Amino acid sequence: MDKSTPSWMSPPKRRKVRDLLKKFENNRKNTSESVMTYTFNKKRIRLLSNFNDVKENSNGILYWMFRDVRLQDNWAMLFAQRTALKNSLPLHVCFCLMPNFLDASLRYYKFLLKGLMEVEEDCKELNINFHLLHGEPNESVLKFVKKYNMGAVIADFCPLKLPMSWIDDVQKNLPKDVPICQVDAHNIVPCWHASSKQEIAARTIRNKINTKLDEYLTEFPPVVKHPHSTEGKFQSNNWETTLDNVEAGKPEDEIKWAEPGYKSSIRELEDFIETRLKRYAEQRNNPLSNVISNLSPWFHFGMLSVQRCILEIKEHRELYKQSVDSFMEEAIVRKELSDNFCFYNDKYDLVEGAYPWAIETLNKHRKDKRKYIYSLSQLENCQTHDDLWNASQNQMVTMGKMHGFLRMYWAKKILEWTESPEIALEWANYLNNKYSIDGCDPNGYVGCVWSICGIHDHGWGERDIFGKIRYMNYEGCKRKFNVPEFVAKWKQKELDE
Ligand SMILES: Cc1cc2nc3c(=O)[nH]c(=O)nc-3n(C[C@H](O)[C@H](O)[C@H](O)COP(=O)(O)OP(=O)(O)OC[C@H]3O[C@@H](n4cnc5c(N)ncnc54)[C@H](O)[C@@H]3O)c2cc1C
Repeated sequence: MDKSTPSWMSPPKRRKVRDLLKKFENNRKNTSESVMTYTFNKKRIRLLSNFNDVKENSNGILYWMFRDVRLQDNWAMLFAQRTALKNSLPLHVCFCLMPNFLDASLRYYKFLLKGLMEVEEDCKELNINFHLLHGEPNESVLKFVKKYNMGAVIADFCPLKLPMSWIDDVQKNLPKDVPICQVDAHNIVPCWHASSKQEIAARTIRNKINTKLDEYLTEFPPVVKHPHSTEGKFQSNNWETTLDNVEAGKPEDEIKWAEPGYKSSIRELEDFIETRLKRYAEQRNNPLSNVISNLSPWFHFGMLSVQRCILEIKEHRELYKQSVDSFMEEAIVRKELSDNFCFYNDKYDLVEGAYPWAIETLNKHRKDKRKYIYSLSQLENCQTHDDLWNASQNQMVTMGKMHGFLRMYWAKKILEWTESPEIALEWANYLNNKYSIDGCDPNGYVGCVWSICGIHDHGWGERDIFGKIRYMNYEGCKRKFNVPEFVAKWKQKELDE
């Protein structure tokens, strides 16, 4: 049976998804025979040590995957294969599963694990070794490199503090003759090339990114069957007991509307293009309209490359110019702006990381009387006086994803109903990371700090509590969409399908 297209899909739909998968495969093949015959853009690489020579007499090259859980359309994987081919060495991929990651839930882990199982299968087909490690990544990866005599490490890039600290640690403790580098497989324009500093707003980074798209928005060469096999024994991955080591808590049940993995992401992409893209520009801020892509879970885990998605979406620009442009603004400019903020500002999760004008205005209104003050537990359990807020929170809790427009309203109300901006930001990040399947992401941190501390925004008319931070209210939402209909739909009931 063809695993890329599930039986519940109608035959024409199945055919379309299969055709899209085939088309991507052919595009890669037509680009180059393999990454060896392809001119790899070295600007995608962030050297962390001298990368000229891999360790002598080593037994393989290691790709340390932690953000981009896919085999094809992955610049880090491609660079790792190129290094392995050049040195006639086997290729290894590892992913290290930590007992907990920020405030991620078991539901988040289950999504991740299924995606990793697909990567393992894809690796097997191409004679690439996939290893699931456990524990603190800096320790486990280092141990793996030493034990199995790896000749070089190619790692993913993620600007959040925790993954940045793993990289620092591994780099400091690696044997001196084992080179290490990072490849930005997540962004189209590598974060360090998009800009060399923290950008003020979308308007200051937009041109820097868009003028580099000709250079970076290219077709991928294929990851090919690796000709060098591993000698010696490696432990096989035990998926059944994997979750035993995980300490993450509730929610535990898997989300049903989105299946993990590359193939499933292509089904969602096909559906978006076919049924929703044409209304995206006009309706994307209406939480009842069902026009957004819903691709953020796959983008977050790197199961779908944004670059692949954009290459495909762009082909529909003649038909849907406004929607395609608007989608590219979100998935490229806004998304890369989030990475930019987290990469250049290590206080991205603190009020202290905000602009001076925002800190000043929030301080000035720190003691303003709050009409409502809620505890974390009341917020978490949808127990505020505001039915729209409760319904939005419930959408996030049950579905693992809140509509983008409501995410802004939701975070701003947390500022209004808690004792201080510091508590508001901490709780917004906590709830978003715990319940969102696309959480624990630079987009999430930046979304919260935009809503609560005005990052990438400018000052607005002054008012209580918010000061000059942009305000949103219930009446404004009523002007945008049918609030009672949304509330009726998402009022504290299990709607996970
Ligand atoms: C308080 C708050 C919290 C947020 N938390 C997250 C989060 O945890 N993870 C996450 O991926 N996004 C987050 N966002 C950004 C945005 O709301 C989501 O990316 C979007 O709702 C995802 O749904 P979609 O894929 O259907 O969006 P689409 O509208 O289809 O957009 C396509 C892609 O563009 C990118 N994108 C869209 N809007 C933004 C934005 N405002 N900033 C940066 N990138 C964007 C995302 O990668 C998204 O998947 C948050 C925003 C706010 C205000």
